[in-house]
Amino acid sequence: MAWVALEGMKFHAFHGVYEAEQVLGGEYTVDVYVDTGIAIASKTDNLADTNVNYETVFQICLVAMSTPRKLLESVVGDIIYKMKFQFPSMKGIKVRVKKLNPPIYGKMKTSDKFHAVPGQAESAWVEDEANFVTKCPRCKQDFLCYKDDTCWCKALTNIHPATTENLIRQFGTSCICGNCLNLYKG
Ligand SMILES: [Zn+2]
Ligand SMILES: [Zn+2]
Repeated sequence: MAWVALEGMKFHAFHGVYEAEQVLGGEYTVDVYVDTGIAIASKTDNLADTNVNYETVFQICLVAMSTPRKLLESVVGDIIYKMKFQFPSMKGIKVRVKKLNPPIYGKMKTSDKFHAVPGQAESAWVEDEANFVTKCPRCKQDFLCYKDDTCWCKALTNIHPATTENLIRQFGTSCICGNCLNLYKG
């Protein structure tokens, strides 16, 4: 297992449900961890051999953070989707978006009336991770599947529609590996 990570990327962004967050914005950090599982880059130290490069990861986060959203969950989901789209051979990914000093309010009841009590927290964060290693239902070998429209197999156009239907009947909607898929192309 080999990981490529970009940790503590800093952004000023406008996510959140409070007006102040949407107008004034707030400080955020983003962490991205990619399980590359490749040994080629570490052997040759050649940038062209590196599947995942920092600048592209940063660019993806920059675009995702520039789109204001109410929920950090949406931001994390957006980054993971864009990463899958950009890098077709990740074994897994973990993304964390952290809102620093988030506005936070509690409620207190005094003399029959509720009033808002501001609180303090260092950060509020959302993290999600995904593992793309899966077992081919046909040959039982491990392979990578992104399980949505970002999967490499969606780019294959040389499979006859009738064959695709037949495959779905046999193996369900889950992907089969490239080796097996090769047997059906033409
Ligand atoms: Zn297979
Ligand atoms: Zn797939």
